[in-house]
Amino acid sequence: MITRRQFLETASAAAAVPLLRLQTPPSNEWGAPVFDLHHHMRPAPAGNLAHLDGAGITKANLLTRGPVLEQVKVLQAAAPGRFTWFSTFDITKPEAEASLTQAVKDGAQGFGELKFHVAADGPELRRIYALAADLGVPILVHFQEVDHFAGEGTWSSGYAASFEGLLKAYPKTRFIGHADAFWANVSADYRNEAAYPSGPIVRGGITDRLLRDYPNLYGDVAANSGNNALSRDPSFTPDFLERHQDKLLMGSDCSCADGHGGGVSQANNPAATRLAGKCVARETLTVLKKTASPAVFKKIVWDNAHKLIKID
Ligand SMILES: [Zn+2]
Ligand SMILES: [Zn+2]
Repeated sequence: MITRRQFLETASAAAAVPLLRLQTPPSNEWGAPVFDLHHHMRPAPAGNLAHLDGAGITKANLLTRGPVLEQVKVLQAAAPGRFTWFSTFDITKPEAEASLTQAVKDGAQGFGELKFHVAADGPELRRIYALAADLGVPILVHFQEVDHFAGEGTWSSGYAASFEGLLKAYPKTRFIGHADAFWANVSADYRNEAAYPSGPIVRGGITDRLLRDYPNLYGDVAANSGNNALSRDPSFTPDFLERHQDKLLMGSDCSCADGHGGGVSQANNPAATRLAGKCVARETLTVLKKTASPAVFKKIVWDNAHKLIKID
């Protein structure tokens, strides 16, 4: 976490980047404009733009944590119209609800990502699901049961057993599912044995069924988890994209520096080496582009996010 002073210093250094470049969206190499729902805000404004421009992304949703309003404003001023933002705070702290409410007043359009070592149906997350419904904003949740490194621990645990009950209990909450457990459960035979299962998908998985049955559930295709689910069984993906064409959202969760796989990608996650040295955004856009019809592709990479949140 950088300090406010460090950020502003970096921000003024970034002012040296020609404004014209910051304000010009990249040429439309994907055949449709692209919105990245899952872009973790980077310390330097120019670092954020470098990823968007390098990967051919038009606009992105900044996932932030803690008090970041000033950083978000600097970035939005540097690149008008290219960034929306979601907020999260430590939900184990009593002030989480007040802080999140203030963030929405300040312009945050959702909560995310929620990634904490708590149960998916525990009291810490339940009060945030309820708050999201009250404030009318979607909530992006990271579900993970299998460690990426020794001692990591689970995040929003209990997805397979408890999430359907939560979709029922909070019908006005718009959930965006993300990460390993959400995507591994597209296959009906998944029992938490691997972070990223490979091979053929057994039809009728929990996530496929929940996307079909619950209008308040969306899926974020970000990260190795989303890419893996769309890549592991080419006979599954076309119909899956067709079935959920109004529910899936393009996200990258990519940490590469330049939108071409440069810098560090998949740090601390040996199970995800299939994407090491690659840009997750590019890899997932490529899968979507070659698998979905142009109309469905545009929904997933652009239109659906616009229906979910207000984007200039
Ligand atoms: Zn995540
Ligand atoms: Zn990238």
